[in-house]
This record gives sequence, C-alpha cells and structure tokens, in this order.
Amino acid sequence: MPELPEVETTKNGIAPHILEQTVARIEIRQPKLRWPIPEAVSTLFPGQTVQDVTRRGKYIGVHTSVGTLIIHLGMSGSLYFVEPDTPPMFHDHVDIHFVGLNKVLRYTDPRRFGAMLWSDGDWYAHELISHLGPEPLTDAFSVDYLHERAKGRKQAIKQFIMDSKVVVGVGNIYANEALFMAGIRPTRAAGNISKKRLALFVECIKQVLAAAIEQGGTTLKDFVSGEGKPGYFKQELKVYGRADLPCTVCKSPLTEIRQGQRSTVYCAHCQR
Ligand SMILES: [Zn+2]
Repeated sequence: MPELPEVETTKNGIAPHILEQTVARIEIRQPKLRWPIPEAVSTLFPGQTVQDVTRRGKYIGVHTSVGTLIIHLGMSGSLYFVEPDTPPMFHDHVDIHFVGLNKVLRYTDPRRFGAMLWSDGDWYAHELISHLGPEPLTDAFSVDYLHERAKGRKQAIKQFIMDSKVVVGVGNIYANEALFMAGIRPTRAAGNISKKRLALFVECIKQVLAAAIEQGGTTLKDFVSGEGKPGYFKQELKVYGRADLPCTVCKSPLTEIRQGQRSTVYCAHCQR
C-alpha cells in the first residue's frame, strides 16, 4: 500500500512536470474506482492550468483556478508519466493529457481502491480531508499535542497512532518501526505512556518518515520513464516483516501479533 512517503514522492515527482501546464483532455477508461469519478473531473478539469500540486495525508491535490482534482492511490495505485503513444494496459484507468507536453500522466490501479475526486472550493473542507489530524512532519505534531490526545485513551498505542484523526500518514510499517525505535510496546494503552516517552515516540515517527521520504527522492527519475512505476522504498526495516528473526539490539526472537487485522512485530525484551 502506498504510504505517506510514497505519496509525497509521487507528488514531488509529478509536480515539476505539470505545474503551469494546461490540461488538454482527460481520458477515463474506468470510472469505477473506490467511488465513481465525478462528472466534474471530465467537464471542469480540461482547459484549466495547474497552479499548484500539494499533499494532505495520503491525498494529492492538483489545484486549478476552478477547483482541485483530488487523487488517492488506495491500496495499489500509481501515478507516472508515459510516452503519448503508450497503449494502455488493463489496469491503466485514467490518462491526463496536457497541452504541448510530450508525455501523459497515467493512473494505474489494479485493485481500484484509489480515488479521483473533485473539490470546487477549499479542498481542506472536503469531507475526506476536513477531519484529518496534523501532518507528522510539521510542528503541529508535537509531544504536547500527542500527550493531550492520548490522555485517558485505553486504545493500544499502535492503533491510536495509525488513526488519521490523531495524525496522518503513520501506516503499519512506520508504526511498527517507530514503536521499536522508541522502545514502546505496541499493545500499551495510549493514555498510559509518560510524556517523556511520547516525546521520544514523536521524534522517532518524524525520523522514520523523513528517512523514507529522503530515500524516495532517489527514485524521482523513475516518474518520467515509461516503466517507471515507483515501488516501495527498500528501507532497512528493524521489525516489520521480521517475525521470529533476532532483534537487532538484544538478539531475542521478535514476536508477531495481530492488532486490528494488521501485523505487529515487536521485541518483548526491548519494548515495554
Ligand atoms: Zn530486543
């Protein structure tokens, strides 16, 4: 699943190519994504000039003077450039053509859990975006904020931190890794962790995400090659996907449990 770093890298990869470009036409071969692509995308978007490309959580906003095209990559979506004459494959659902641009922005999504929506006004007011918590790499995501939100919460810290109303973009991989880095047991109640430990946790979350985004930066060239669908970043993971393997710190075998149907891997010795 594309996580925040992949979405940030996608945004950074496409932005320089489409900024100040005018949309010639949009080809929608499959309108049934997670929700149907609204009529406005084909009627309002063409003819508009892209003024900005931004990200909020895992949503990418392509902004024009009449509204914003909102794109979510879902479980398996990707957005990249192809040569104009590249024949579409079965899962290549949308092509966006720009005036005088010798490449096409293509949206591919085998599982179709992604979305392409339209917002007429301020996209932060869109129902999918308005309730989102702060961005993890901004100052708004601070220990004071997290401590306040965690107060009295009995929910396990891992599920708490993966709730996009608390903070956006801390997906399963990064939650596992940041909890290990901070030495916090994933099952511990969110409200039962000292402010000092939460401060370390906030720092660890920022570190793992920033490292992944930095690594993603090296894949940016892939956005302009024909086969350049960006994959997952091969970050060195300490716990995720390493069940029963030795902990990198204490060498005891890592434990795997399920939390909310997601895999949690932790070290029972190092994480309390
Ligand atoms: Zn350990």
